[in-house]
Formats: sequence, C-alpha cells, structure tokens
Amino acid sequence: MTAVEIAQLDVLNESTVSTAIGQMGSQEVTRLIITDKFGIAIYDSSYPASSHSTLVLFPEVFQALQEKDVFSSLYNDGVILSRAAVPVYSNGVLTGCVYMMEHDTTQGALIQSLIRNIFSITVALEIVIIFFSLISASAFSSRLRRILASMRVVREGDYTQRVKIKGNDELAVLGTEFNELTYRLQTSEERRRQFVSDASHELKTPLASIKLLTDSILQNDMDIATIREFVSDIGNEADRLNRMSHKLLTLSKLDAEDHVDGEVIHMLPTLDRVARMLSANAKSNKVTLLMNVRTDCVICIPEDDLYQIAFNLVENSIKYNQAGGKVFISLFQDGQYAVLQVRDTGVGIPEAAIGHIFERFYRVDKARSRKTGGSGLGLSIVSNIVERNNGTIQVESTVGKGTTFTVRFPICTQESET
Ligand code: ADP
Repeated sequence: MTAVEIAQLDVLNESTVSTAIGQMGSQEVTRLIITDKFGIAIYDSSYPASSHSTLVLFPEVFQALQEKDVFSSLYNDGVILSRAAVPVYSNGVLTGCVYMMEHDTTQGALIQSLIRNIFSITVALEIVIIFFSLISASAFSSRLRRILASMRVVREGDYTQRVKIKGNDELAVLGTEFNELTYRLQTSEERRRQFVSDASHELKTPLASIKLLTDSILQNDMDIATIREFVSDIGNEADRLNRMSHKLLTLSKLDAEDHVDGEVIHMLPTLDRVARMLSANAKSNKVTLLMNVRTDCVICIPEDDLYQIAFNLVENSIKYNQAGGKVFISLFQDGQYAVLQVRDTGVGIPEAAIGHIFERFYRVDKARSRKTGGSGLGLSIVSNIVERNNGTIQVESTVGKGTTFTVRFPICTQESET
C-alpha cells in the first residue's frame, strides 16, 4: 500500500513524501525508506530527521532502481526478516523506489514453536519406531531360536519333534516346511524299523526250521529215508531263504532308486518269456496257462520291470490255484493305455484282505503261503514297480472263484519316445 501511495506522487521530494507519509499514518513495518532515482534517501523511518542526502546501499534498493520488484524473506532464530523494494514511476518515468523491512517476531515465534513441535514429534516417533523394532526383532529371534532348537533335537534322532510358529511370514512357512520334513523323516524311519523287524522275523522262521531239522538228524537215530526227507526239507527252507533275501534286495533297491530310465518296449515278447519260464511250474501244479493277446502294445518302462510284474502275478495265479485250474494272461489296448490282465480260477482273496495284499510281508493264509514258499513280498514289489513307472494296478477277487489283477500303463507315443 505504501508503494502505491508514494507511486501516485507526481514529484518525489522531501516535502511531498513527508506529506504522504503523514497522511498514511503509522505503518506496521520496522523500516521504511524512500529514495530518489539515484538511491539517495528522501525518507528513512529509522532516521526521520537525518536521512536526507544519504545514499542507500541495500541490494534491494539497487535492484528496484533497475526497475525490478524485489522481495525476500528470511527466518532466523525466532524472527522473520522480510525485505521488499519496488520502483516508483511518475508518468511512466522512474523517479525513485520504496524499500521496506519488517522484523516479525510474532510469526517467527509461531514458526519456532512449530519447529519445536515437529522436532518433539519426530523424536517421539523415532522412540516408538525403535521400541517396536526392538520388540519385533526380539520376537523374530525368539521364533528363529525355537526352530533352531527343534532342528537340534531332530538332528539327535527324535523325529517326533514339531515347532509351532504362528503368523503368515517367512518364518511361519519355514516352520511348516520343517514340520513336513520331520513328519516325512519320522514316517520313513518308522517304515524302515518296521521293515527291518518284519524282515528279521521272517528270516528267523526258516532258520529255526533248519536248526530244528539238523538237531533232529544229529540227535536221533534215523533211517536213511527219513534223513533224506529231513535234508530235502532243509534244502526247501534254504531255497525259501534264498528267494526271500532276493526279494528283500529287490525291494531295498526299489526304495533306493527314486527315478527310472524307461525303455521303449513291446510287451508281447516279455509276456511270452514269462509264460515259458512258468510253464513247468504250471504243469507241476496242474494249472493251464492261456495267453489271450488282442494286440501288442508299446510302453515305456524297463523290460526287467515288466518281466518282474508279469512274473510275480502269473506265479501267484499258479500258486493260489487248484488242480485243473486255469490262468489267463491277456494283453489289449484301452484308449491311451496298454492293459495287462492276469486272471485265475484259484482260491480268491477275502474282501477284508484285499486292502492289505500290497503291504510288505502280508499273507492271507500264512500256512498256505509258507507251504508254497511265499514271502508276502511279491505284490508289494509289483505295486512299487507299477507306481514308479506311472502305471496303476487293480484287483478283483471272489473267494473260491478266482482273482483278476489288472495293470495299466500309458501307451508310448512318438512324443514320449523322443
Ligand atoms: P507271497 O509271496 O506270500 O505270495 P505276495 O505279496 O505275492 O506274497 O501276495 C500276498 C498275499 O496275497 C499272498 O499271501 C496271497 O494270500 C494273496 N494272493 C496274491 N495273489 C493271489 C492270487 N492270485 N489268488 C489268491 N490270493 C493271492
């Protein structure tokens, strides 16, 4: 406002300026200077009596006399120092400038209190952040310590150990993974123990028979015919031990191999070979072996695996059959699958036992199985091999009528061959 009032003066001199200032009354500025166009003070509110003829050297005045409007504001230690200078024109010609300086402590105090508040809030926030960081770091490390402690327990061999980690973060995922791992270790350890105890139990029986038979021969006076009979029994038990150890080896090999290199094979030649190998066995059991092949199929599994599957299934069908019975070996294609079916007219399997026959060492009729040299391992080997070659196995049976095992493998197409 001051600059506008002054700018309206036609002539800028001592008397016109003091008249104008007098008319305007008190200005709320700390210092007001009015200069002529050479920068000589005409009026200075700080020195109203002795300002005349003083050259004002403020840079703002210098710039205003260059016809520029100048404004600057600086905050320092609770005070806002504002400076402004504007040129004054008379009829479009520069006649001087007005310079104002304001020393504002009220606004400065406001800013100072604002700064103080921001500082206190920042400090408080930092304390809160540090506090929560410490709490979360200590919670994190305590959860981590729990996992580490459980790992140590598991390392010592206690696979029953589990950790409870709440939340949805990475540590909780780690805890779940750890529990799954220990569960798998526990299951496989239990299976291993069970297997070792079952195997030693099974091996004990023929060994005990051999011991009993040899003791009998040594301790009793026997005629040569009885001795021959006992020795032949010892031979049978030794054969059984041999077969069982062979099957146990096969099973442990299957357990150890986690992947299998498939071969592209025609099924028919392998099935022919199995039938040939077991024909003498069938004959001595008075069982007829019949092949029914609608079409040969090409599948992608190791030839030995297919041989093992077919051999065990056909051997069982002969073993658990009756004199005059039949075994049908069929091969056909069903959509994308090659189907091998082994059907017999044998004793059948009771419904309650069907769910168990693929378990290791399981036998429906222990006495009969022992008589026929069974170990309870054949079908578990079969299901293991079928599974690792991406096949499936099904069984249907009626007691007294017979049993059918159906094995399916995906047909080997050209893409799966490459
Ligand atoms: P094993 O060596 O005793 O024959 P397997 O694992 O081959 O053992 O078979 C498990 C049990 O399933 C056998 O003890 C037998 O009771 C029953 N089983 C298997 N195949 C047949 C079948 N074709 N007919 C009747 N029972 C069978």
